[in-house]
Amino acid sequence: MDLGISTRTALVSGADSGIGWHTAERLLREGATVVITDLDQGRLDEAAARLPADAGQLYAFAADLTDSGAVASLASMVREAAGPIDILVQSAGITGAQGLFHEIDEQGWANTIEVDLLAPVRLVRAFLDDLRAGGWGRIVFVASEDAVQPYDDELPYCAAKAGVLALAKGLSRSYAHEGLLVNAVSPAFIATPMTDAMMDKRAKQRGTDRDEAIQSFLSEKRPFMEIGRRGEPEEVADVIAFLCSDRASFVNGSNYRVDSGSVATI
Ligand code: NAP
Repeated sequence: MDLGISTRTALVSGADSGIGWHTAERLLREGATVVITDLDQGRLDEAAARLPADAGQLYAFAADLTDSGAVASLASMVREAAGPIDILVQSAGITGAQGLFHEIDEQGWANTIEVDLLAPVRLVRAFLDDLRAGGWGRIVFVASEDAVQPYDDELPYCAAKAGVLALAKGLSRSYAHEGLLVNAVSPAFIATPMTDAMMDKRAKQRGTDRDEAIQSFLSEKRPFMEIGRRGEPEEVADVIAFLCSDRASFVNGSNYRVDSGSVATI
């Protein structure tokens, strides 16, 4: 399926690894101009070198999305190098403070909300004029199954991602008549550095290896993931790419679950 985005320019955050990197790859292969951003310029350059060189044009600019000044500089660099963006994929995120509610202090809450909710707000604020200007635009937020099915050992993350869904839905009401469509994707347990770290920690606690940690996590903590394995980042990137595309021209304000059935309601 031709996604019809070969003349479009996309910014993908959290793109030196995981879901963000695979989304950048997917959009590049569609011929889009892609700007990737993440925390560290060195790791970002390595990630850029692993992306296809024979596809769309690629730029890589690092920015800490918790820093408004850095986000403003990012916006200037992107505009100067690639022009106004048509597509924003917000995939940067952290697991954040872990533990039961009484084990997490206010700083843990603040740090998690800062990255997982305020960074998306900051990015949209910095790029909204561009996204509205061309009469055609897409924003895709990477939320999580946790947004609607909170787990009690990571409540700051759950609350932040619930906020992201509210942000997506609210924004989808404001600018759709101008052609700017806003949607969210909610994955569950995807094989990326984020869940590698979670599973390595679990393996250490249980005195076992990563594979056993994954199997026990699936059976004990994610019983409704009926496909019975971690998802692959490509499986999320494909859905994001569709939502970024011309093919998704009547999809707005939706939350696509890519979770193997993990959320226990339809
Ligand atoms: P990932 O590979 O760790 O990607 C997240 C990226 O965000 C990392 O490259 C990280 O940079 C970057 N980042 C963190 N803080 C940042 C900041 N302040 N400024 C700029 N970039 C920052 O993990 P992933 O699984 O692909 O995660 C992508 C998104 O999917 C996240 O929003 C996550 O919450 C969501 N998600 C993932 C899963 C899953 O099972 N993997 C499930 C549901 C939702 P560093 O690596 O340099 O720290």
